[in-house]
Amino acid sequence: MSTQKPHALTMIPGPIEFDDRVLEAMAHPAEAHTAAPFLKTFSSVLKMTRQLFLSTDPNSQAFIVAGSGSLGWDMVASNLLEHGENALVLNTGYFSAAFADCLTAYGAKVDQLSAPVGDRPTLEQIEQALKQKNYKVITITHVDTSTGVLSDIRAISELVHRVSPDTLVIVDGVCSVASEVIRFDEWGLDFVLTGSQKAIGAPPGLSITYASGRALKVVASRKTPVPTYFASLPRWLPIMQAYEAGKPAYFATPPVQNIYALHEALSQFATSTESVETRFKVHEQVSNKVKDVVASYGLKTVAVSRDKSAHGLTCVYLPEGVANTDLLPSMLKKNIVIAGGIHKEIAPKYFRIGHMGVSATRPELGHIDTVLNALKQSLSECGYNA
Ligand SMILES: *Cc1c(COP(=O)(O)O)cnc(C)c1O
Repeated sequence: MSTQKPHALTMIPGPIEFDDRVLEAMAHPAEAHTAAPFLKTFSSVLKMTRQLFLSTDPNSQAFIVAGSGSLGWDMVASNLLEHGENALVLNTGYFSAAFADCLTAYGAKVDQLSAPVGDRPTLEQIEQALKQKNYKVITITHVDTSTGVLSDIRAISELVHRVSPDTLVIVDGVCSVASEVIRFDEWGLDFVLTGSQKAIGAPPGLSITYASGRALKVVASRKTPVPTYFASLPRWLPIMQAYEAGKPAYFATPPVQNIYALHEALSQFATSTESVETRFKVHEQVSNKVKDVVASYGLKTVAVSRDKSAHGLTCVYLPEGVANTDLLPSMLKKNIVIAGGIHKEIAPKYFRIGHMGVSATRPELGHIDTVLNALKQSLSECGYNA
């Protein structure tokens, strides 16, 4: 039996459903951010974050800071770029474009390489773009949560290292870390940013980023000071190094209870390479099931093909004659929350189902069957017989 209060089953692409113990960890009593048990916990969280990224390179560093996923965009924009430098943004939807907006806000010169909705730029297009200019960074939205499109960060990173080796490879992994395969060292990534509330399955409130030694060198050798205070990696670096070593340090108060909750979440899957790999496989299996069932209802996904589809959510076009304004309330009456569309070109035409974290890894909870059966019934109530 769950210890959670009755609530609507939340099957959106984050925040996701919680494991009981993760939520209970949020009720940790008052504790100084310099107290020994907290130091031990934070140290362990930073080490498990390395495991989560399948990284063993001692020159890389995890940063865990109060904030949401978006704070990672500010960190990239203000630390890895200097005013007027070039950034290439691969645009696969709303979140890619928002990342570009953030880079522009700090004075980067941004070029966006877009694909038709549901698709992604080809490697040939990316290669051509990289040969046009000196790009300080390339940004890839691993899973754009507005389209459910998965980018091939491994192939793109390999291409960047071949044709533009000084360009830093930046990954927005807010909707992919802990549900999609990421091999940070092996794939030569430089910076991955995420948040606590999507596939990691902890409450919202933490910006989690992981930087390569190469990225940290770029920050250390800037010509101009980092134009931010709270998002400054040089300010956070000694703090994270101290915490990882189990020593107290202060720049800004860490959210103690959120760190306890993240510790519990990571303890459930980021303790060994095997358990991380298993988590990736399970998300793939559950995703295939959801996509097969949705297809059996006669519906099409926004992502143009299965190999370009994310494994933590599914974006689905509504059938002719059914609107989100009818479908979502009908689902809510069954005590289930799914998400509407947010990509501006197609927003009213599709909906999104999240299937990350415990909803994917604990079949005994029945979340996947519950949402798929309710969807069939709600579609029927809206006049479409699946
Ligand atoms: C949710 C999301 C963000 C923004 O994260 P917040 O935690 O809402 O700030 C950024 N990028 C992607 C791909 C996302 O899914």
